[in-house]
Amino acid sequence: MNSDRPRNFASDNNAGVCPEAWEAMARANADHSPAYGSDDDTKAACDAIRDIFETGCEVFFVFNGTAANSLALATLCQSYHSVICHQIAHIETDECGAPEFYSGGSKILLVDGPHGKVSPDAVESTVHRRNDLHFPKPKVVSVTQSTEVGTVYDPEEVRRIGAITHGLGLSLHMDGARFANALAELHCSPKDITWRAGVDVLCLGGTKNGLAVGEAVVFFNRDRAREFEYRCKQAGQLCSKMRYLSAPWLGVLRDGAWLRHAAHANAMARRLEEGLAAIDDVGIAFPRQANAVFARFDDRVISGLYSRGWQFYDFIAAGGCRLMCSWDTAPADVDAFLHDVRELVHSTEDQRPAFPVQQH
Ligand SMILES: *Cc1c(COP(=O)(O)O)cnc(C)c1O
Repeated sequence: MNSDRPRNFASDNNAGVCPEAWEAMARANADHSPAYGSDDDTKAACDAIRDIFETGCEVFFVFNGTAANSLALATLCQSYHSVICHQIAHIETDECGAPEFYSGGSKILLVDGPHGKVSPDAVESTVHRRNDLHFPKPKVVSVTQSTEVGTVYDPEEVRRIGAITHGLGLSLHMDGARFANALAELHCSPKDITWRAGVDVLCLGGTKNGLAVGEAVVFFNRDRAREFEYRCKQAGQLCSKMRYLSAPWLGVLRDGAWLRHAAHANAMARRLEEGLAAIDDVGIAFPRQANAVFARFDDRVISGLYSRGWQFYDFIAAGGCRLMCSWDTAPADVDAFLHDVRELVHSTEDQRPAFPVQQH
């Protein structure tokens, strides 16, 4: 890593490209190859995803998570429908209204619940609250795995939500921008927290797990995938040189690199959590179950960390400072950060904030 730009804890999408994805991209860069997804790399990447989920799902590659979520939701909804999600869900707070835009107006209905998770009861009461035609009809439940606060739904939790969702005639969407981190923590098979538990569509994250760019939209309910390629094209999400979007998936899925990287990021977050828990006056806001730690520091400690060049987000809504680990976070990065926290907690330095808050 370039030492002028040291690793920080702002986001897992601040990390670079992992070697497996980079090499796969280089391998794909040979001779001519058919465009728009008719190439061998794209076919093989779709097959690799089918193998991992042990089912004949339909797979599409898009450039980013906002498009993956919004286009998937738009496929599941008419404009007069609504989508139930947690109030801190990315589709609500960080997609600039793209799900509403692409669905032509589907309303997002918010529920609360501990640890950033949607509960089956909240789904049920939201659906039953109104069933007249003056209210947008609930049609989809969306859950995030792992959640925006770094917690994880276990297979039984997904199954319960899936059962309620389908029992009420709704579909289940999973925002899996950090799906690999959840899977690495759960040690279950991918199918147990997706189609077997009732997930109809998964947006499978690649970018935050070491790809340069790209997410996969995985339809377990194949009927719902009908004409999805037209949505992708219309939204400017159909990559003409598709092999550069798909080949890196092959690179990380082969030999399990995607799960190794996710497990490493999780392990770094665990190291960070354990170190912080041992420091007086530092609180941990949520159980760490993936690659994020939410810490509560005094304002003075936060300013001190910013002045020393550390980067992280201190969003208040989620409770504390978000420290995100990635595939390339090194134990030494964690230890250097912990060292600075300890010094600042015990010192009387007064520092001004230096890290400007921009994106997540
Ligand atoms: C990062 C992220 C996304 C995708 O965001 P893009 O910037 O559009 O790629 C989606 N959902 C969650 C929970 C995320 O953290």
